[in-house]
Amino acid sequence: MMMARRNTYMRSHCGICLLVVGLLARSGYAAQPPSPSRVTILYDAFGDRAGLTRDWGFAALVEYRGHRILFDTGNNAEIFAANIRALHVNLRTIDFVVVSHRHGDHTAGINYLLQVNPRVKIYAPREGFGVFGAALPGTFYRADTALPGRMRYFGGQPPGELRFGTPWPKANVMLVDSLTEVVPGAFIIATVSETPGTLELRELSLALQTSEGMVLLVGCSHPGIETILTASRPVADRVHLILGGLHLVTTPDTEIERITTSLHDQWHVRRIAPGHCTGEPAFAALQRIFGEAYVYAGLGTIIELPSTRRDGA
Ligand SMILES: [Zn+2]
Ligand SMILES: [Zn+2]
Repeated sequence: MMMARRNTYMRSHCGICLLVVGLLARSGYAAQPPSPSRVTILYDAFGDRAGLTRDWGFAALVEYRGHRILFDTGNNAEIFAANIRALHVNLRTIDFVVVSHRHGDHTAGINYLLQVNPRVKIYAPREGFGVFGAALPGTFYRADTALPGRMRYFGGQPPGELRFGTPWPKANVMLVDSLTEVVPGAFIIATVSETPGTLELRELSLALQTSEGMVLLVGCSHPGIETILTASRPVADRVHLILGGLHLVTTPDTEIERITTSLHDQWHVRRIAPGHCTGEPAFAALQRIFGEAYVYAGLGTIIELPSTRRDGA
């Protein structure tokens, strides 16, 4: 009798449980919490967060619409590894990597990245004979058939394709040279520097669509932030936030003034989170002109992004 009553109780109790779970699931309450939308600065030469090592260079973790994107890898693989550990970032769960450009202060951590996640997809700029590797048809060079075989490349019979070396020959690199949507709402912007000293250097930036406009993540901005903004126009018609290096580190005050004013008044950039090679005088100028809209982005800072839901893009 007791047993029967308990069974009845359990049946009705479990029935209520199932009903409650069902209702919660329908209301969305029991669903997974929404994935974060934020950028964490993993590598930079300024910042006051304890337990991290400051060094020249840049790296950031981007969390966007459930994707985890590593942008650049810092200047020193050991320091990169130490900061990654201190910030509890798991590189095994990175969906893909964007390396902005070939400079060592953005690429040196690739060796550590590949130790942890050897097959992760890495988007890198396509350059003629760049460090990320390249290939050309075996017929790319002018031939001279009158020469004896021992003086001709490959004895006069070149392979169909010539592959050029890279320090990371086993890496899963995708070379990019044009605007590319890598996951819905996230675009790689490809630009080329026309600045003496970095002439023809190719650089990739990452543009994210959000409910408040575009979030633009830049490595060094060697082609110039205005050039990158022009190239990113197809992504969104307003710029919510620029984050990263603006390369004004040795720029004279008059030019810093022109660029910062242009970002604020012509481009109507709503918020600015400068880092890396932006430079100390430019930090000051941007803080003056952007006021409350200046976002501190030192090493270890987490910058929350606006809603990244698809309908608000
Ligand atoms: Zn650079
Ligand atoms: Zn740099």
